[in-house]
Amino acid sequence: MVNIHFQKIALNLFTYKFVRDVAFSSPLFHNRTMTKAEKARIVTRILNLEYPDRKPLLHYSNPFELLIAVILSAQTTDAGVNKVTPELFRRYPTPEVLARAEQNHVEEIIHPTGFFRMKAANIIKTAAALAERGEGTEVPGTMKELTALPGVGRKTANVILYHIFDQPAIIVDTHFKRVTKRLGFTRLTEPEKIEKQLSRAIPKEIQSDFSMTVNLHGRKYCFARKPDCAGCPLKELCPSAV
Ligand code: SF4
Repeated sequence: MVNIHFQKIALNLFTYKFVRDVAFSSPLFHNRTMTKAEKARIVTRILNLEYPDRKPLLHYSNPFELLIAVILSAQTTDAGVNKVTPELFRRYPTPEVLARAEQNHVEEIIHPTGFFRMKAANIIKTAAALAERGEGTEVPGTMKELTALPGVGRKTANVILYHIFDQPAIIVDTHFKRVTKRLGFTRLTEPEKIEKQLSRAIPKEIQSDFSMTVNLHGRKYCFARKPDCAGCPLKELCPSAV
């Protein structure tokens, strides 16, 4: 068993090194006219190997729970949300039950996530809208329907479209904004404009992997204050590498 485990690690390392070497020796890579789409393909290939597990960091067991967890994740960490959602979903396991909750009871549970009054009001209203649809713990599957729910912006909607409906999605959060800017994919600052720009530039079939892995990369190497460029697998193609 141990041998098989080490063989697997060795194979992964070999594949990882091979993809990087091929990508970096490609004439495309050193060509100033390389398009964003070509660069995104190389970045995604490398980061897919670096981050083979691309599940969301938020804990959930159905679409309703993921939607509520993503709403709660605004302006806080996923780990912080994961600490409060077990109790929240134990007390309010379906949209119907959460829609009938006392707001101050919900506020008490989600208090550590910050902005708790606004978040409590939003998740109760969203639960009421879902309960009205009468589809249990299912959630709507279009950008228009999702962003019509209280507290649901385009980032939240894109997370749902990707993880629940397997649709292409450019998910612009703080990590994605920072890393795509440093990698030279955008100079824009408004999330919605970045989303539109990169949705056009990046091929649909890699959009979701690109979003997820770039996000993870911002957490593992490309920190806001002091990025770990020395250890970063993208340093050779990054114009901001130090
Ligand atoms: S080289 Fe540095 S700035 Fe560029 S992506 Fe990697 S960590 Fe970020």
